[in-house]
Amino acid sequence: MERSDAIIIGSGINALVAGALLSRGGWKVLICERNNLPGGAIATSTTATLPGFTHELLSSWHPLFVGGPAYAELKRDLESHGLVYANTTMPTGVVCSDGSAVLSTDMAATSAEFERLGDGQAWNEMLGEFTKKIDLAFGLLGADLWRPNALKLLRAARKRFGNRGLVATGAELLEPAAPWLDRTFSSPVSKSLLAPWALHNGLGPDDASSGFITKVISAAVAFGGMPVPIGGGVKLVEALSAIITTNGGQIITGADVKKINVTNGKATGVELVDGRKFEAKKAVLASTTPQALYGGLLKDQELPSTTVKAAESFRYGRAAIQIHLALSEKPIWKDDARLADVAIVHVLDGMNSLSESVNASNRGYLPKRPTIVVGQPTTMDASRAPEGQSILWIQLQENPRTILGDLAGQIDPGDGSWNQERLNAYADRVLAQLGEQITNLASATLAKVVLGPQQIEAMNINLVGGDPYSGDCRIDQYAIWRPLSGASGHRTPIKALWQIGASTHPGPGLGGGSGYLVAKRLLSKRFF
Ligand SMILES: Cc1cc2nc3c(=O)[nH]c(=O)nc-3n(C[C@H](O)[C@H](O)[C@H](O)COP(=O)(O)OP(=O)(O)OC[C@H]3O[C@@H](n4cnc5c(N)ncnc54)[C@H](O)[C@@H]3O)c2cc1C
Repeated sequence: MERSDAIIIGSGINALVAGALLSRGGWKVLICERNNLPGGAIATSTTATLPGFTHELLSSWHPLFVGGPAYAELKRDLESHGLVYANTTMPTGVVCSDGSAVLSTDMAATSAEFERLGDGQAWNEMLGEFTKKIDLAFGLLGADLWRPNALKLLRAARKRFGNRGLVATGAELLEPAAPWLDRTFSSPVSKSLLAPWALHNGLGPDDASSGFITKVISAAVAFGGMPVPIGGGVKLVEALSAIITTNGGQIITGADVKKINVTNGKATGVELVDGRKFEAKKAVLASTTPQALYGGLLKDQELPSTTVKAAESFRYGRAAIQIHLALSEKPIWKDDARLADVAIVHVLDGMNSLSESVNASNRGYLPKRPTIVVGQPTTMDASRAPEGQSILWIQLQENPRTILGDLAGQIDPGDGSWNQERLNAYADRVLAQLGEQITNLASATLAKVVLGPQQIEAMNINLVGGDPYSGDCRIDQYAIWRPLSGASGHRTPIKALWQIGASTHPGPGLGGGSGYLVAKRLLSKRFF
C-alpha cells in the first residue's frame, strides 16, 4: 500500500476530526480502527431494541461539538455530507425532593424560573459575571496549553483582572461546586438543577474545579441548548468519514494496531495484530489511553522511565451504566408536565444525595439514591421512534468500577464484578426509583437494554472499567496535567508521534478538541 502522510490509531471523534482536517489540508490519511465500525463512543443502533427505534448506545448529546472549533471549521462540509442538527429550547431540568425546575435557552424564561425559586437575582448576577469571562473560560478549556496561545490567554486575563485579580480567579477556578452553590443560591431546587452537570465532566460537587465546570456547562447549555444530529451520532461519523475519504483518505475497520514502529526515535508506521504493516511519512496519532500507548503500542521502545511510570499510574474514574428503553408512548412526568419536553432531566434527592452517591461510588459502593440522568432524544428527533412512541436514554454515572458493597444493603457484592445478575438488580432498583417520577414508566416499556461497565469497555477498549471519560478528570489529571503530569501536552517522547483522545487535554466529550489541536498544529508551518 502507498505510504500515508498520517496514520491515526482509533476512529473516535478526535481521530475523525483530526483525519478530516488533515485530509482537507492535503494530507493522505489512514485511520485504523479495531472495531467493526468507526465512531468509538458514538455508537448509534437501530437494532438494540425493536424495529423503528434508534438508540445512542453510548454518547448522545452534541453541545460540545456544535459549540466547538471543529464544527465551526467543518460545518459546511459536514452539512454537504448530510449532517443536520436538531435543537431544543428546553435543554435541561430537574426533579428533586424539593420540587422541579426547567432551564431554557430563552433567557427571560430561565430568569422567571429562578425568580419562582427565589433565586432570580442570584442566577442573573452569576450569568452576567460569568459572561464577562466566558471567552477566557472557553479559551482555557479549548487552548493548546503548550503553545504560545496559552500565554496570550494568560496575558489577556492579567490585563483584565490585574495581578491580584488573576490570583483570585485561580481560586475561583478551583472552587468545588457545593460551596459555590450553597453560597450563591437559596433554593435546594436551583442547586439541584445545576450541580449534577459536574458529573458530565467526570466530577462530583465536592471536587476541586467542579464549580467552574458547573458554571461553564450551565452557561453553555443556557446559550447553546442540547443539539443532537437527526438520525443519531452515526450521521456525524458518516459525514466526517466522507470528508476523509472524498479527500483521498481511508478508514479501515477490524484493524487492531498492536505496535507503533519507530526508526531512529521517530514514529514511522504501525503494525496490526493480523500482521499488516502501514507506513506514515509525517505523523502517527494515537487515540488511546496512556497505558495502552506506553505499556502496549510502544512497549518495545526505549522510553523515559518518568513517562512510563506516569502512564502506569494514570487513574480511571467511576464507571457508567446506560439503560435504553423503547416506550409505547411519551413519558408522563408526575409533578411537572413540562419535563416531557426537556432534553435531559436529572432525577435526584438533592445536593446531599449527589455528594453521597459520588463519594460512595469513588469508594466502591453502590449508592442508595443515585442521580439518574434521563435523556429524551425524541423531544428533538422524532425519527428515533415510531410515531407517538418514544425512547429514553438513561445514564448512571455514580457506579464503582469494582463493587465492594451496597449502601442500600440489598445487593451482594460477590466477587465485586458487574456480572449480569448484579447489573440487572441495580438497574431494576434505579428504574423503580425513576418510576416514582414517571408514572407510565413500567406500563409503557416495550423493550429494555442495560449496558454495564463490562459491556461498555467491550464496546470501546479506551473506556477502561466502563469509565466513560477514559481517565479520572479530577484536577491532577486535567488541563496541563492531562494525559500525564510530566508530558508536554499531546507530544510524546517519540518524534512524529502524538497522543489524542479523551485521555488527553481538553479531556472527554464530543468536542473533538484534541484531534483539532493536533491537526492544526501539524498543518501549521511552524509546529516544531
Ligand atoms: C456512555 C457514554 C456516554 C457519553 N455521553 C456523552 C454525551 O452525550 N456527550 C458528550 O459530549 N460526551 C459524551 N461521552 C463522552 C464522549 O463520548 C467521549 O469522551 C468521546 O467520544 C471520546 O472520543 P475519543 O476521540 O477519545 O475516542 P473514543 O470514542 O474513545 O474512540 C477510540 C477508538 O479507538 C479505537 N482503538 C483504541 N485502541 C486501538 C488500537 N490499538 N487499534 C485500533 N483502534 C483502537 C477504539 O476501538 C475506539 O473505537 C459519553 C461517553 C460514554 C462512554
